[in-house]
Amino acid sequence: MGAFWHPFADMGDVESAGEFVLSRGEGVWVFDENDRRYLDATAGLWFANVGHGRRELAEAAADQLRTLAAYSSFGDMAVRTTIDAAERVASLAPMPNAKVFFTSGGSDSVDSAAKLVRRYWHELGAPERTVLISRTNAYHGMHVAGTALAGIPGNRADYGELMADTAVVDRDSVDELRATIERIGPGRVAAFFCEPVIGAGGVYPPAEGYLTAARQVCREYGVLFVADEVVTGFGRIGGDWFASTRFHLEPDLITCAKGITSGYLPLGAVIAAEHVAEPFFRPGAGVWWRHGYTYSGHPAACAVALRNLDLLEREQLLAESKRLESSLAKQLGRLTEHNLVAEVRAGVGAVAAVQLTEPALAPQLVKALRKQAVTTRAVGAGGIQVSPAFVMSDDEVRLLADGIWAALTDLR
Ligand code: PLP
Repeated sequence: MGAFWHPFADMGDVESAGEFVLSRGEGVWVFDENDRRYLDATAGLWFANVGHGRRELAEAAADQLRTLAAYSSFGDMAVRTTIDAAERVASLAPMPNAKVFFTSGGSDSVDSAAKLVRRYWHELGAPERTVLISRTNAYHGMHVAGTALAGIPGNRADYGELMADTAVVDRDSVDELRATIERIGPGRVAAFFCEPVIGAGGVYPPAEGYLTAARQVCREYGVLFVADEVVTGFGRIGGDWFASTRFHLEPDLITCAKGITSGYLPLGAVIAAEHVAEPFFRPGAGVWWRHGYTYSGHPAACAVALRNLDLLEREQLLAESKRLESSLAKQLGRLTEHNLVAEVRAGVGAVAAVQLTEPALAPQLVKALRKQAVTTRAVGAGGIQVSPAFVMSDDEVRLLADGIWAALTDLR
């Protein structure tokens, strides 16, 4: 028995079937310990947007580690790299004069935002605004607030009460959002957490007009709109840095992580619109947010973020992500002709899911795909995830679709 306890794993199965151990990566390919190569359909966990094996990201980290690996950003301290990274992220965000609070990953970002919205309302004299609303199929990370907000029932089950004052509404229903705010009382609702394109819950692009209408309802009731862009940020939704830009959301807060460093080092952020940050930035007011992490703004992670954002810009990878939007829709679309495929959800950014007619087969399909030299994972209820690096060529997308077809045929 090995010591490593895998996240999100049935360890009994892993113990009996063995681990799948990777040793290196290059572009859209990863290699196992026997140097067999696999097409990486998911860019790791939706993060390796620039692809694997980028030496210049390793060098950015190494340069910072050699200079000053880390210190503290509490109080008035910071390393210049951290300040530069915050400026850079703020300049890309679709909110003017945004403030950037760094975390160590997506779950940190969501729980930080969950605390921040409550503190915000407290500072505004409305401490009774504590309720957080999320959507069915939502995934908001695995800390306490994020787990409480989960719209995937299995992810919140069996812990007892995690956090008071949360509510889940249907992912496509603006009417239910409005009715829920009315039922709870608009004066009690702090924020609505919303993935512009639902990711881990199954890759669900928003229903036509949903995001604009939901944003409007929040505005009407003074409910803060938190765009959880942990997956969708930094170009994943094709052409724009954030899905919030594409869908004209003007969010009050954005939570992000993953693509900020392309996953080369752990980093996340909460991006706050100017009006949300304002109560905490007033000179002489004596208001401060008693919140933060040892590794908030870790300089090596920030150095990687800066270089990663340079890379995305220099190689125009947001345009490549846009190209993948139609390439995935076209190539994966033909899988609907297979009798095991119920639907393919694609067409909004470099994300897609292939939904099976028999949901229980998804884990087997993942295994069958490994035989076809493709790595992916099950997502939602009975789908498999496709979210490649933006450098995946159209030929490689075709190869991926062919691999999925062959693996499906292997199952039957
Ligand atoms: N929010 C969303 C939308 C996510 O997809 C994820 C992770 O997949 C998280 C939050 C949590 O991020 P992390 O796993 O980095 O803690």
